[in-house]
Amino acid sequence: MEIRDNKSLQENLKPFRKALRAWFEHEGRKLPWRQEPSLYKTVVSEFMLQQTQVETVLPYFERWMRRFPDFAALARARESTTVKFWEGLGYYSRARNLHKLAGILTNAGNSPNTAHGWAELPGVGPYTSHAIASLRFNQPVACVDGNVIRVIARLTANKEEFKDTAAACRGLQECAALLLDEASPGSHNEAMMELGATVCSRIAPKCGQCPVGEFCAAKKAGNASRYPRFKPRGFTRSSVNRAFSEHGDAILLQRNSRASRRLGGQWELPVMESLRVPRTEDQLIVKRSRTIGRERIEESIYRVFPTPELMIRVDKACDLRWATKPDLKKLTLSGPHRRWVKEISNLQRGSADPNRP
Ligand code: SF4
Repeated sequence: MEIRDNKSLQENLKPFRKALRAWFEHEGRKLPWRQEPSLYKTVVSEFMLQQTQVETVLPYFERWMRRFPDFAALARARESTTVKFWEGLGYYSRARNLHKLAGILTNAGNSPNTAHGWAELPGVGPYTSHAIASLRFNQPVACVDGNVIRVIARLTANKEEFKDTAAACRGLQECAALLLDEASPGSHNEAMMELGATVCSRIAPKCGQCPVGEFCAAKKAGNASRYPRFKPRGFTRSSVNRAFSEHGDAILLQRNSRASRRLGGQWELPVMESLRVPRTEDQLIVKRSRTIGRERIEESIYRVFPTPELMIRVDKACDLRWATKPDLKKLTLSGPHRRWVKEISNLQRGSADPNRP
């Protein structure tokens, strides 16, 4: 169903927009980037909110604003410092792109004021460029993210099966543009996202409290949870062997390639094969697993002794290093590996591990 098939919505666009805006003005969350809003706060929050929930972002945003209060301060910082402040948020290319973007804007002495201009900057995709242009420059462009997809698909009872979220964003962009309140595009976009995040939730949408329920096709049919519809997709599975090697009080770590979108530049326990050391099953310490996107990865961690050959290899490699406890505090480790290093270090000191295979 397209918007034109939902007569109630199509014929009542003005009341729909008015009801949405009134609800947002009263019920919208008082988030830190909405208090005394600025271009810098909007840009930082939009980068942090890509792929990440508001509750997770809140402490990172506050800490970031204290350390890098504006574009100039961010541009002056080292890239490695900005990545360190991002540790735990994931998708580290966002921190590097934000740092690059701050450098570009600081050098230029001004910023673009259209979605098209913003889309030219590093790390700014269609959604982020629309969010910045509408929120800060009042440009009439609609934002479509995961929350907005849900709202639109339900308002219009859209039966299309999308391949994934990106395809749904593209597929529903035109409908979002029709719904957009061009007189107040920033507030409208924020309200749509807020509605999806707080009322039109993925599981058990609160249709009884919805400010635009009277215009909603899915509510009328009593089947809101059926939308949006996605083609079924499974997880892919993979496995990797990791080395846990100690030399004195230092642990061997390996830096991921900067080209890696999600984990680029982060330190983790080294991949066994890259160390070129033999392994036997009695060296196995633990097996752990993690999920990245739609990939389920099983990681087997083996004890490796620091032989002279290994020490030479580490000396020569630029992606390997021994990290002492103080180093571990300063380096950016992926969340699971920081947890596992701590866990295995405790295990080596004699505490029992109930999950040991
Ligand atoms: Fe979502 Fe229900 Fe509101 Fe429709 S009525 S937009 S399904 S919360």
